[in-house]
Amino acid sequence: MAEDTLFSKIIRREIPADIVYEDELSLAFKDINPQAPVHLLIIPKQAIATVNDVNEDNAHLVGHLYVVASKLASQYGFAKDGYRLVMNCNEDGGQTVYHLHLHLLAGKAMGWPPY
Ligand code: C5P
Repeated sequence: MAEDTLFSKIIRREIPADIVYEDELSLAFKDINPQAPVHLLIIPKQAIATVNDVNEDNAHLVGHLYVVASKLASQYGFAKDGYRLVMNCNEDGGQTVYHLHLHLLAGKAMGWPPY
């Protein structure tokens, strides 16, 4: 089982977050340190530490994060212009919170490569 992280505390409303979406499987909130005009984090309510812990049993939750991302892109009005979805894994990937999360970045043209 994944360790209790800041994001579990946000799910349980033990620490504040600017929540923009919630359903039975997931939560989305504004990143506290935005890297784009719109920077949301979409997380499963089930604590999964990293992409390395995704398996046949929980893969539907990862798919669900993308469904939520698509809905939010339409809702915020940037679906047509585009946006970036990022999931960092472990140290070299830049992961700092060990509860799976999908970054949704939008509102400007993104550069590539990301380093
Ligand atoms: O991919 P990574 O693990 O680095 O992303 C964690 C993200 O969580 C960061 O973008 C950070 O700004 C965000 N964060 C947050 N609220 C917190 C703690 C971290 O939005 N309370």
